[in-house]
Amino acid sequence: MTLTAHTRLALLLGDPVAHSRSPTIHNAAFDKLGIDAVYLAARVRPDDLGDAVAGLRALGVLGANVTIPHKQTIVPYLDALTPVAEAIGAVNTVVPQRDGSLLGTNTDAAGFFEPLQPYAERLDGAETVVFGAGGAARAVVYALLTEVRVARLTLVARSPVKAEALAGDFADRDTRSVVTVRADDDASRAVQSATLLVNATPLGMHGAHEAETPWSNADDFHAAQIAYDLVYAPAETRFLREAAARGATPLGGMAMLVGQAAEAFRLWTGQTMPHAAVLRALTPT
Ligand code: NAP
Repeated sequence: MTLTAHTRLALLLGDPVAHSRSPTIHNAAFDKLGIDAVYLAARVRPDDLGDAVAGLRALGVLGANVTIPHKQTIVPYLDALTPVAEAIGAVNTVVPQRDGSLLGTNTDAAGFFEPLQPYAERLDGAETVVFGAGGAARAVVYALLTEVRVARLTLVARSPVKAEALAGDFADRDTRSVVTVRADDDASRAVQSATLLVNATPLGMHGAHEAETPWSNADDFHAAQIAYDLVYAPAETRFLREAAARGATPLGGMAMLVGQAAEAFRLWTGQTMPHAAVLRALTPT
């Protein structure tokens, strides 16, 4: 890639950012399509977030992604939010507008649902379980309430109070009252009868949580289920391994990671992200 005086800049704002795969994804896509742009990860301390957003404006960036811990705190610095960002209560993508204003949106819900598209019919009228009640779970709940007509969406979290708060935030959208909350030790039947199980906790992630799973009673898994882990490193988590061993269809978090990036890329460039080139760049040789 040759950088020129015309090269546009896209940025990730977060803290930490050193682990991020977003530069690999977007730079591979720019390269493949011959777009004269570069994507860099910027570590921005919470106290500097306002200055960083002013920088996005002053520099006329192509676009920006936002990650932990800024997904909610960035909202007051932006000019407008899309309905999806409003509903989820978090921004992961900033899209500069023609008039110079900054629009905040959230592509996690679209990225989450993309790998589920082939299963949409199976999810119609199905029971679903989401483990976790944090930021990613909010995008998952939004997607499951808007993209399909699930019969039940059970939130299983170690902090039922947080799960209740999440359910409450989506009460307006949950017109058929499908969202319920179960404590960890009271969810066995919901897990057994679910067609889709989603891990939206860090359990299973490379590092301290790698040996863990959001649901340790693996005998509740079976062949009619889809097990979807948002964790993408490692590609095969304990949750996915144990579910697949009982015949469930495993879906790893890498597809969501690429899906949310693809939606941001489309919003910034108007072009479709070249998935194959991106997946090649993400796969160690
Ligand atoms: P978050 O906002 O910190 O929420 C994490 C959730 O997991 C919370 O409900 C938390 O419970 C729960 N949790 C944390 N540690 C736990 C433990 N030891 N036992 C039981 N529950 C635990 O994080 P997030 O942004 O939602 O991210 C969650 C996971 O999704 C991360 O692994 C992240 O990498 C992944 N993710 C992947 C993608 C993708 O594109 N594939 C996108 C977004 C996120 P408390 O509230 O009680 O702490």
